[in-house]
Amino acid sequence: MSQPLPMKEKSTPHHSTQVWTKCLDIIRKRVSPQSFNTWFKPIKPVELNGDTLIIQVPNKFFYEWLEEHYIDVLRQAIHQTIGPQGKLEYRIVVDNYKRVDLTDVYNNSGDAKQQMDFLPEEIKNPFIIPGIKHDRILSHLKQRYTFDNFIVGDSNRFAYNAAKAVANRPGKTAFNPLFIFGKVGLGKTHLAQAIGNAITSSHPKLNVVYITTERLTHQVIYSIRHQSMDDLMRYYQNVHILIVDDIQFLARRPKTQEIFFHIFNHMHQLERQIILTSDRPVKELEHMEERLISRFKWGVTVDLQPPDFELKLAIARARLRDEQVEVPERVLEYLCYHAGDSIRDLEGILSTLVARALFMQGDINMATAQKILQYYKVQREEVITVESIARLVCDHFNIPLQDVKGKTRKRPIVEARQLIMYLSKKFTKHSLKQIGKFLGNRDHTTVIYACRTVEDLIETDEKYRQNVFTIEKKLRLSYSL
Ligand code: ADP
Ligand code: MG
Repeated sequence: MSQPLPMKEKSTPHHSTQVWTKCLDIIRKRVSPQSFNTWFKPIKPVELNGDTLIIQVPNKFFYEWLEEHYIDVLRQAIHQTIGPQGKLEYRIVVDNYKRVDLTDVYNNSGDAKQQMDFLPEEIKNPFIIPGIKHDRILSHLKQRYTFDNFIVGDSNRFAYNAAKAVANRPGKTAFNPLFIFGKVGLGKTHLAQAIGNAITSSHPKLNVVYITTERLTHQVIYSIRHQSMDDLMRYYQNVHILIVDDIQFLARRPKTQEIFFHIFNHMHQLERQIILTSDRPVKELEHMEERLISRFKWGVTVDLQPPDFELKLAIARARLRDEQVEVPERVLEYLCYHAGDSIRDLEGILSTLVARALFMQGDINMATAQKILQYYKVQREEVITVESIARLVCDHFNIPLQDVKGKTRKRPIVEARQLIMYLSKKFTKHSLKQIGKFLGNRDHTTVIYACRTVEDLIETDEKYRQNVFTIEKKLRLSYSL
C-alpha cells in the first residue's frame, strides 16, 4: 500500500501566516540571503483556502520571476508544510513608484547594514548603485543632449514631436515604448537622452536610466558570473524611465534578451516609460526573440531621416553662432551641401572649420572648405559635364536618364531635355553639337531652340523659374561654380 501517510493534525497549520512562516524557514535554507531578502521577504501571506495558500506579490514581474526561478523551491516548501496536495496561488497588488524605492526599503528595514553586507564587495558592479549612501540611481545621461539644442527640420520633426510628448507625460502616452530608428549619426542618442534630461528636470523624483545595449549585456554577463541576477533585477525595479540605446545589438544574445524581456514587462505593466533606439526598423531586427519584437511594436515607432540641406545649414549656423565664429555664407553652404547624410560627420567638418577660423586666423574661403572636405574624404565630381547636369535634372524631376536621351516627345521629358541643353550651354565648355549628340543625337539647331524656350519660360513662368533656380543652386554648390 503506497497511500501517503495522513498528515498529523497537530503539525498542519491552519493559518496562512503560520504556513508561510514555515515555508520561509525552508526557503531560507535553500536560497542565498540576498535572494531571500529580495524575493521572499516582500511576499505577504493572504489566506489559506483548504490546501491552497494565497500569497500577495508586489507586481506581475515579481510573480514571473518567482515562477521562472524559484518554482521548485516554492513547491517543495508548500509540499513540506501543507502536504503533496498543497497549492500556491498568487495575488498581484501593483505597487507604485514609491513602494519599490529600494532606498526606503534599506533605510526603513532596520537591518540595512546586514543587507548591505550581502552585496558583492566590488562596488564597481554597475547596477549596485542604490543604497544607503545614494538617494538616487545614476542616470548616465549627458547633459549636453537637450531638446533646446536639437535642431528640427523636415527629416526629424515627427520624431522630435513624439519625443517631446513622451517627455511631457512619461509612461502616460501611447508612445510606450517609443522606438526611435535611423541610420548612424542622425541624432537617435541625442533625442533619446534629451527625453531623459527633460524628465530629470521636470520630474526629479523619477529615476531615469540611460544604458547602451552593450552595457546591458555586460551587466547580464556580470550577474551570471557573480550569481547576482537578483541585484540586477532589483536595480531595474527602481528605474522609472529606461532608455536603451542601439537595441539592434541584442541580436544573438539570448540571455540578455530574456532578462530584458522581464525588465520590459515589469516596466510596461507599471506604466513606466521605455525608450529604445535602433539603426533599423523593428521588422528588420534579426536574431531577436519573437516575444520581444512583438513588444517593441506595442508603442510607436518614429524614424530619423537623413537631414536635408536646410537642416544641415541650420545646424551649422547654430554651431558657428555658439562659437562666435564668422564664415562666409557661400563657404558654409558649400560645406553643408557636401557633408553627406551623417550629422556626426557634419559636426566633425564644422569643428575643423571652427578650429581653422579661430586658431589659424586665416581667411576662410572656398579653398579652405575644399581642403576640409578632402580631409573628410568627401568625394566630389571635379568637372561639370552634360552627363552630370542631366543626372541632376532627371533627379530633380524624378524621371529616368535614358528618357531624355531617347526619342520620346512627352511633355515633361521634352521640358527636362530642354533644360539640360540650356544648363549645359551655360555651365559647360561643350559645343552645341556635342550637347545635342549626348541628348539623343539631336542637331545644334534643336539645342538653340531649346535654350530660347527655356529663357522665355524663365521670364514668364514663376514656378518654372523657381525650379531652374533650385537646380542651378545645386549645380553651383556641387561644382563650386
Ligand atoms: P546616432 O545616435 O543616431 O548615431 P547621435 O545622436 O549620436 O546620432 O548624433 C550625432 C551627433 O549629431 C551628436 O553630436 C548630436 O548632438 C548631433 N545631432 C544630431 N541631430 C541633431 C540635431 N537635429 N540638432 C543638433 N545636433 C544634432
Ligand atoms: Mg547613438
